[in-house]
Amino acid sequence: MPLSAELEMFSDTDRSLMSQALAQGKHALPGCLPNPPVGCVIARNGAVIVSGYTQPPGQHHAEAMALSQLDTTLDGLTAYVTLEPCSFAGRTPSCALALISAGVARVHVAMLDPDPRNAGAGIEMLRQAGIEVTVGLLSDQAQQQLTPYLCKVP
Ligand SMILES: [Zn+2]
Repeated sequence: MPLSAELEMFSDTDRSLMSQALAQGKHALPGCLPNPPVGCVIARNGAVIVSGYTQPPGQHHAEAMALSQLDTTLDGLTAYVTLEPCSFAGRTPSCALALISAGVARVHVAMLDPDPRNAGAGIEMLRQAGIEVTVGLLSDQAQQQLTPYLCKVP
């Protein structure tokens, strides 16, 4: 996609919320290792409702941590996640499923997860469920922050 189209796709609010998600991700280190330090912000009408970051292995991923703080079901939620939500259940349940169950309307993902168990499958699950998904918001910053921690081999 040409850069100009990408710039038009996202608002300043979107950029600000994704940069808050990136800031959340920084809180994950070093407790989250060997999992990547992902951050997640869930917003409604441009305002942050809850946020989260990767917890130590076996505990909540960023998305699950954020969703666990929602005490009621809200419509019109938008999630900003620095890495593609996981499609597979590993030590913890799938975050893509958790976002679907919570009825999130829109998900902005900064970068795809190169892990071959995911690699676009998380995005596909969200889209199949009727969620509007974009990929690439602040992707340079996300890649800088996450690439050293991502698993590329099964
Ligand atoms: Zn996950």
